Amino acid sequence: MEKVNVELDGKLYSCRGCGTHLALADDLISKDYYCPNGKAFLFRNVSNVSFGVPEERMLITGIYIIVGIFCCSCGQNLGWKYESARDKTQKFKEGKFILDRGMIDDGANSQHNIDTAGPVDS
Ligand SMILES: [Zn+2]
Repeated sequence: MEKVNVELDGKLYSCRGCGTHLALADDLISKDYYCPNGKAFLFRNVSNVSFGVPEERMLITGIYIIVGIFCCSCGQNLGWKYESARDKTQKFKEGKFILDRGMIDDGANSQHNIDTAGPVDS
């Protein structure tokens, strides 16, 4: 059941490598995150991904247990999910998802006319 590709409706983000739909703009929480490759987005929910093995990682804001997330179609590493945060002030990130900005396509090249919510860094 989990392996079925979900077609998302509306403004969405897809895998840059293969075009698989990954997340809805409605589930975007913040664009002010960073991953080792640069900018990253925080999402409430993602689709069509598979998960890696939980690992402890020291990030800018503290120590977390994270799980790598991968495109279910092409296997590209897209970012990670926060499983747990050691710091109480970071607990709000638990269960949320980071997608590497460089690995996702925001649909700007599609025929949809999109109003971006904030400044765009290009
Ligand atoms: Zn892909």
